Amino acid sequence: MRALRLKDWKSEPVLEEVPRPEPGPGEVLVQVGAAGACHSDLHLMHEFEPGSLPWSPPFTLGHENAGWVHTLGEGVTGLEVGQAVAVVGAWGCGTCAHCLAGLETYCERPDLAPVPGGGGGLGMDGGMADYLLVPAARHLVPLPDGLEVVDAAPLTDAALTPYHAVRRSLGKLGPGTTAVVIGVGGLGHLGLQVLKAVTATRVIAVDGRDSARAQASALGADLVLEPGPDTAERIREATGGRGADVVLDFVGSDETLATAAAAMRQLGDLTIVGIAGGTLPVSFFGLPYETSVQTTYWGNRSELVEVLDLAARGLLHAATTIYPLEEAVSAYDALAHGRIDGRAVIVP
Ligand code: NAD
Ligand code: ZN
Ligand code: ZN
Repeated sequence: MRALRLKDWKSEPVLEEVPRPEPGPGEVLVQVGAAGACHSDLHLMHEFEPGSLPWSPPFTLGHENAGWVHTLGEGVTGLEVGQAVAVVGAWGCGTCAHCLAGLETYCERPDLAPVPGGGGGLGMDGGMADYLLVPAARHLVPLPDGLEVVDAAPLTDAALTPYHAVRRSLGKLGPGTTAVVIGVGGLGHLGLQVLKAVTATRVIAVDGRDSARAQASALGADLVLEPGPDTAERIREATGGRGADVVLDFVGSDETLATAAAAMRQLGDLTIVGIAGGTLPVSFFGLPYETSVQTTYWGNRSELVEVLDLAARGLLHAATTIYPLEEAVSAYDALAHGRIDGRAVIVP
């Protein structure tokens, strides 16, 4: 079968012919229907140094996957061959306290996990291939009726990650509050929809690209701003001087973190999702009182079930640009150069 392999740090992935995996006991082989191209893959290709993550290449890219059950390993029950499924991407040990609570992203026994802190496309072979070997049936969620695999794939990260981040701050997103989405790309355009679907907050979107700002307006952002030295001030003006209750930073650079910090309302949440590598100085008078700053990583199975439900009911929709597997490298090139609105999705 074909697979898009990241063979080393700081290298471009290569499409290769590899043997089709056979599912062992408890495993499931999925015929890939679609795999989203995440900006994190660009960080993997260009920025990470050997040793900076607990796993390393070579592996097949693609951590946003959906497809059809192809072969069930010995002992797997509850799934049927041919069934459409979305893949829960973080593969933990399944037995530690966090895994039992569904938080496999934060597995505490990385020594027992198939890959510490990762999953398919992040240390293990992912879905930019004809088939994906999934180590346990609990990592698969049957698609609700009416949701196509090509629409479901990007939801497994680009919607799940913002959903997890928004859910954490739900108590601060009631009527009269303001949320700011910085970076309206793959994650941000779905984060904005999540805010609209599950909260009563007012949404301000910030992006440097004209097409991303136009998309944010079309998706119902109440105010759309260009990033710049006066962005935080404009957020304050738009909120009667109070500032933003929640800022979701889907970029995470020095510049966006500084804007976020300057735009916060007292008691707000500043959530860093983007991994551009920026830092935020923290000091007593450096942030409004009781600002909480947190990073979040991906989301969990039950949250994915909720995300898929929102999508099946028409409340979330990933804007996609489809590329065949042979053109995956050009999809990443388009993503790197800001030419993708929404998500690039690879269909093998
Ligand atoms: P993307 O390239 O699709 O979107 C990024 C958006 O940010 C683009 O629209 C771009 O124009 C905009 N942008 C860039 N610099 C900006 C600035 N200074 N101000 C305002 N907007 C700016 O990327 P994506 O796939 O949505 O991923 C976003 C980030 O989130 C990446 O760093 C990715 O690695 C990270 N990520 C984190 C998690 C997690 O679990 N924490 C999960 C997935 C992705
Ligand atoms: Zn991702
Ligand atoms: Zn665990």
